[in-house]
Amino acid sequence: MPIVIIGSGTMGSGIAEVLLACGGSAVLVDPDAAARERAQTRIAKNLARSFEKGRIVEQPEDCLARLDMSDTPPVDGVEWVIEAVPEDVALKQRLFGELDARYPETVWLASNTSSIAIGRLQSCTRHPERVGGLHFFNPVPRMQLVEIIRGLETSEDYLAAARTLTKRLGKIGVIVPDRPGFLVNRVARSYYLEALRMVDEGQAPMELVDEVMEGAGFPMGPFRVMDLVGVDVNLSVTRSVYEQTYYDERYRPHPWQEELVERGYWGRKSGRGFYRYE
Ligand code: NAD
Repeated sequence: MPIVIIGSGTMGSGIAEVLLACGGSAVLVDPDAAARERAQTRIAKNLARSFEKGRIVEQPEDCLARLDMSDTPPVDGVEWVIEAVPEDVALKQRLFGELDARYPETVWLASNTSSIAIGRLQSCTRHPERVGGLHFFNPVPRMQLVEIIRGLETSEDYLAAARTLTKRLGKIGVIVPDRPGFLVNRVARSYYLEALRMVDEGQAPMELVDEVMEGAGFPMGPFRVMDLVGVDVNLSVTRSVYEQTYYDERYRPHPWQEELVERGYWGRKSGRGFYRYE
């Protein structure tokens, strides 16, 4: 049964790639034709590289044959719908209302949101028990963890199905609470914000902060991670956690993040973030 993925950006295309690589079928839905085309090219390139490196044994063309691209979600023969549209509460709420009306209650609906409470999406549906979070991390093919978010009304059956799905994708699914930032993004706020404050206060240059944190065993320093994730994406997660914690000072976004985002310095994807890229 194909899995329907709504939104063909960084995360949607990554989830589709993993699904295809492990023998599954995907329908990638995006109203933006250019985004669909970029996603298809990216997935084809990545699968070809995985094949060359021996990470998959199936021919990339055979994997790609199980991918459909569409501007509307198909209805028949669907077991899972995974939403990966931009981090915008109103957009996601509207979408979950539409998906709930479109699909029978036996179809599981998941959001890949980084920080929006699943309860806020459940509140727009008639069947909140089949709604939960499946929070994949970037880059999806490489990151093992998936946070399975249990909203107030998420059923045990949903959680069991989510565990089965994450296992099938070769991931480690861990159930986490429906609190702002869930688990990883909540704890990681301090990692980024404290580093921003230290450098901004002139206590250390950012290169040193990255170097030292990597030396201490973190796979990537905070500035390098922000550039990888997207300075804009990271800022929107910080803002969302800040707002949802009723403006807890610990999560207040840093002006430096705002400045870079306004200037279009969004990290690797735009050629410049905290660092410059070729
Ligand atoms: P993105 O901007 O790369 O992609 C979003 C895609 O959604 C775009 O292609 C856009 O055309 C499409 N879209 C917009 N409205 C749509 C609609 N109504 N129906 C279908 N498609 C629509 O975003 P992303 O980085 O892939 O993030 C997607 C979600 O995943 C967000 O909630 C984000 O917080 C979360 N997330 C992102 C990361 C990351 O590192 N980028 C990591 C984990 C989770």
